[in-house]
Amino acid sequence: MLRLVLPVACCLLPVACKGLFIAIIRKYSPFFSALTRDWSTFRTGELKFCLLPDFYLQTLIFLINYDILSSMNKDMTPVSLLGMNLEEAGRLCTALKMPSFSAEQICNWLYRKAVSSIDEMTNISKKNRALLAQGHATGRSMPVGRQLSRDGTVKYLFKTRNALFIETVYIPDGDRGTLCISSQGGCRRGCRFCMTGQQGLQGQLGAGEILNQIFSVPEFEHLTNIVYMGMGEPLDNLEEVMRSLEVLTSPWGLGWSPKRVTLSTIGILPAVKIFLKKSRVHLAVSLHSPIPEERQRIMPVEKKYPLKELLHFLKSQDFSGQRRLSFEYILFRGFNDTSAHADALAALLKGLECRVNLIRFHSFPGAPFEGSGEGRILSFQKRLRARGLTCTLRASRGQDILAACGMLSTKNTINRQV
Ligand code: SF4
Repeated sequence: MLRLVLPVACCLLPVACKGLFIAIIRKYSPFFSALTRDWSTFRTGELKFCLLPDFYLQTLIFLINYDILSSMNKDMTPVSLLGMNLEEAGRLCTALKMPSFSAEQICNWLYRKAVSSIDEMTNISKKNRALLAQGHATGRSMPVGRQLSRDGTVKYLFKTRNALFIETVYIPDGDRGTLCISSQGGCRRGCRFCMTGQQGLQGQLGAGEILNQIFSVPEFEHLTNIVYMGMGEPLDNLEEVMRSLEVLTSPWGLGWSPKRVTLSTIGILPAVKIFLKKSRVHLAVSLHSPIPEERQRIMPVEKKYPLKELLHFLKSQDFSGQRRLSFEYILFRGFNDTSAHADALAALLKGLECRVNLIRFHSFPGAPFEGSGEGRILSFQKRLRARGLTCTLRASRGQDILAACGMLSTKNTINRQV
């Protein structure tokens, strides 16, 4: 209603107060006045014509400004501090006239002490905390759902500020606590064996929302490893993912060794190049078939970014140091689990410092495949090993709560909420 009344009032006002309007326009808007005729020669009869250009221009400007203001009002949600790097925190402190050392204090509270409110940042003065709280928040939000598997795996459901639902999986294993995090709401890549791919892309996550999954699970203190293998293709959200990695591995952030973090991709070559250049965390590539035509049938990405080109690039990189390169291979019964596939895979990876992770497939309603039998999986592994490849068989975790590899989906959750 206000959106309608205000512009109409704006149009009528100058007609009602012609003299005043002319004076105001002349004083404050010389540019637009210059576009119109010489105001001093107006006769009353001409007024409505002479005023028209200027007054509609002013109205237009008003409408634009009003629209901007309205959209700003709509988005009054505070800016998230989570995801900010030290430099950005420094710029924020300068803008708020806070001491420059407060940037480190803010990062320390956010990433080392993992506080969930600005009020807990007690070595920042009360006045400055109040300043910070005007338009900002830590960006922390707790999971809205939790499912516990028989094997101890826990799946969490988070709701983002844009009302996206994402899943995060905590996998305890002896001394290790691995968190599998999401980088997108859904995914647009449409891999045929993946439930996330079936729901399509719902939206991107900001760095703060990616990090919130780590800081807001109850097991935060027990985490030893982070894997970007949850919902979404991380390299389709490159900028925000790189920001989150910077927070995870910087001394002013969480300060983790890059060796504790793995990013998994289907192989978006241009983004892989940037990722390898700008970070030092491990890389895992979803391979799933050494034969291009077959791979394309289950992973449409093969058409645009063929595995062959990716491998050619990876062979030019050095993986002999700390950074690990691995290939994920899900075994589908009768599709990619033959001896010929094992031989072709070994030939393809020849000369690369890498390992292969074999993964059991967990079927879901409507899935076009079934998982290979145990015997076939073991003989596949044996054949790869015989050809000199380091090859592990990943334990299947959280299958009963749909938390295993390829099973994450919030499609039903979204449908329930809409
Ligand atoms: S496997 Fe990864 S890239 Fe493919 S659809 Fe699933 S989430 Fe997307």
